[in-house]
Amino acid sequence: MRRRPLRSLAVLLVVGVAALAAQAGALADAPSQGPPTAIGTGGAAATVDTLATQAAVDTLRHGGNAVDAAVTAAAVLGVTEPFSAGIGGGGFMVIYRASDRIVTTIDGRETAPAAMHPDSFWENGKPLPFNDARYSGLSVGTPGTVETWADALDHYGTTSLGHALAPAIRVAREGFVVDQTFFDQTQGNVDYFDDIPATAALFLDPDGTPRDVGTVFRNPDLARTYSRIGQLGAKGFYRGAVAEALVQTVRNPVVSPTANHTWRPGLMTMRDLRAYTAPEREPTHVSYRGLDVYGMAPPSSGGSTVGEALNILEGYELSAMTREEALHRYLEASRYSFADRGAYLADPGYFDVPLVGLLSDGFAATRRALITGTAATSPVAPGDPYRFDGGEGATVQASPSETRAGTTTHLTTADRWGTVVSYTLTIESTGGAGLVVPGWGFLANNELTDFNFDSLTHPNRADGGKRPRSSMSPTIVLDDGKPLLAVGSPGGSTIITTVLQILINRLDLGLTLPEAIADPRLTQRNTATTLAEPAFIATAEATALKARGHVFGSTSEIGAATGIEFLGGHRLLAAAEPVRRGGGSAMVVSPEP
Ligand code: GLU
Repeated sequence: MRRRPLRSLAVLLVVGVAALAAQAGALADAPSQGPPTAIGTGGAAATVDTLATQAAVDTLRHGGNAVDAAVTAAAVLGVTEPFSAGIGGGGFMVIYRASDRIVTTIDGRETAPAAMHPDSFWENGKPLPFNDARYSGLSVGTPGTVETWADALDHYGTTSLGHALAPAIRVAREGFVVDQTFFDQTQGNVDYFDDIPATAALFLDPDGTPRDVGTVFRNPDLARTYSRIGQLGAKGFYRGAVAEALVQTVRNPVVSPTANHTWRPGLMTMRDLRAYTAPEREPTHVSYRGLDVYGMAPPSSGGSTVGEALNILEGYELSAMTREEALHRYLEASRYSFADRGAYLADPGYFDVPLVGLLSDGFAATRRALITGTAATSPVAPGDPYRFDGGEGATVQASPSETRAGTTTHLTTADRWGTVVSYTLTIESTGGAGLVVPGWGFLANNELTDFNFDSLTHPNRADGGKRPRSSMSPTIVLDDGKPLLAVGSPGGSTIITTVLQILINRLDLGLTLPEAIADPRLTQRNTATTLAEPAFIATAEATALKARGHVFGSTSEIGAATGIEFLGGHRLLAAAEPVRRGGGSAMVVSPEP
């Protein structure tokens, strides 16, 4: 059906939805987003979606810990945010465990099939155009999300996978109300979704248009998949019927006879799925103004790039500067850090990432020394972190920063014992590879386009068994060994600058966490133009920064962050976006009056 712009019809729809909601528990609970901020005790959660936040807080209220709550919320997001995240994709979870004060991470990144080669995305001596690579079986990496959930619960949770998936199964069966964001995300994919019968059947109306805003979306196939995983554990996904259907979809996409694109087959095998692991990795760590900032290590570039920029910025007293001066330093620190990210970040199993050098104060000092009172001209060259890494200089390959941003989603949970989870998960582009696995209700990721697939030599080139470089930056900040802040965001490589901007807003510039999140964003990633939201471009600071040589381009929205702050005395502040991407949802177990 087409959208109905007429107000009287919209009112009828709302009445209809309310009637439906009265029948369906999941709908009656929370059909709209918000509020974006909550303060209280007993545990907290912040996600982009009310149903997911509610499920997390219910888990906490019933005695679950932050890891249980994070998995529960992520599973609901797999239903309500299917174009951003789900079991067809991957992600990175950073965990602070209060009982022994450790910070650890789970690397649930998708992995290239063993049969992949650097030139797998090439035809006739040229790399495929992005959309041809993306909408195909070729871009689909072996998913990591289910293994992440299983490992997180096994090692750090208190509940079973079956229990954690129960609220999501209910939402998938009973449905949720389609909002404008869901409609728009479908709309952006219609031209490809309608090529694939299984994708069209799930996400489009019979006439090929998106599900209307205000209607109820159900996904019984996904409920069945979750039930199977709940009963069998991770092998319910990585072996047997779901795995076979996923491999079939990737290797031999079923395409409509009326399709107007070519869908190339991919390389994934049952063996790739069986071999998948989500390793636990040491987090990255830098100290910043006496605090300890932990992030995601390679294959993400998040922890190293946020960390390098913070090390550069630590050399300035940002809190004593005008806001414009501080933002100039922020942009320049980010510019130089992105030059290094482009040259040195890749899967550490395939490339010797000079992580110690990149995160050293000595290297940061060499980068800071290049920053002047005016904007540098990008692209700036990468530095030499090997000097600070105890190693020899390797061949440096500068690479431009990608400017694409997918959607992805970030969630943050904390429990009454002080355990915290910062978890970013994704299927890469909005709508992933566009391939729904028939009968099982989820989209396959296109994470393998995060390789520098147009290069046969870059450290982040495609290869069998390799994990593509990510920008996801789930972050936890400790103060004297105790949690202070957890934050993260979607947004492709802008994730890094969003997290960085929120951190300096909160830690240096005197903003509260909700203010730090709501603040208009600007992102400099070693490109000639600094992208900024319209609200920033309208400010006096933007005018002053232009006088320093910064060139701004406008983009409607950057990121969709969530975070939690520990206010002291067991008080928690959960915060989500007030406006971006339709606004998010923050809750605590026991709200303050
Ligand atoms: N695939 C992206 C990454 O791992 C995240 C998706 C996005 O937000 O663009 O960096």
